[in-house]
Amino acid sequence: MILKKKAFIEELNGVQSINGTVSFQGVNLNVFCYVTDGVLIDTGGESLHKQFAPFLLEQDYDQAWITHHHEDHTGGAAFIQKTRNIPVYIHNMSIEEVLGKADYPIYRQLFWGRRKSFKALPLSNTMKSRNANWEMIETPGHSDDHLAFLNQQTGQLFTGDLYVNPKTKVTMQSESIPTIIESLKTVLTYQFGDVFCQHAGLVSNGREMIIHKKEYLEEIQYQVLKLHSEGYSKKEIQLSLFPKKYPITLFSSGDWDSIHIVESVLFEGN
Ligand SMILES: [Zn+2]
Repeated sequence: MILKKKAFIEELNGVQSINGTVSFQGVNLNVFCYVTDGVLIDTGGESLHKQFAPFLLEQDYDQAWITHHHEDHTGGAAFIQKTRNIPVYIHNMSIEEVLGKADYPIYRQLFWGRRKSFKALPLSNTMKSRNANWEMIETPGHSDDHLAFLNQQTGQLFTGDLYVNPKTKVTMQSESIPTIIESLKTVLTYQFGDVFCQHAGLVSNGREMIIHKKEYLEEIQYQVLKLHSEGYSKKEIQLSLFPKKYPITLFSSGDWDSIHIVESVLFEGN
């Protein structure tokens, strides 16, 4: 199987970033890592090791914080632990998971490689970097352990996979739309400026886009519940709200599908 891979390094408002892309048969997935004030935020996927290694070796940081346990965020952690001997932090609930072997569907292993196990320390509610105090904000929904990191000095917010894009059309079976809506509301209770997303990069009108996303998902939630109360089936609701099919649905054998959006709303609505 031939995967196309590339990576691009750029400074974004004082934050160092690397953006790696993995492409296969019309499916393009990408991921960012950031370095700011001596902290590496997320570590990329194991499949991008070659492309990310120079960045991970040369950047100036003395600790790493990981937004959540997914393999496109944790794939470089074992490497930096071995080569730089620095502490790597993640949500308390994922320490055991990342100490174990990669355990996720084959299509994800094909794209992102097999994450090597690593030993992480627990992130606390507040963390310190060289010059700043940070707030670690619980933002579940995409994954249970998901955190957003707020630099209280610069107002820059690192959102992991909370944002990704304003109009979600497909999700993984494990995600919850109602919980994501609550997490978007939670971050909106904080003051912040730039949003650094792990897939969209720097979102300079970040607050506005997070509001857009929250409103879009609330509208979807409303429509799903309305159509359901009118007697439409899950499948009919899906076809009405999400008529388009995406390559990732086929490629992931349905792990990424709009039906999960409908199901998660109905599950929590009951
Ligand atoms: Zn993720």
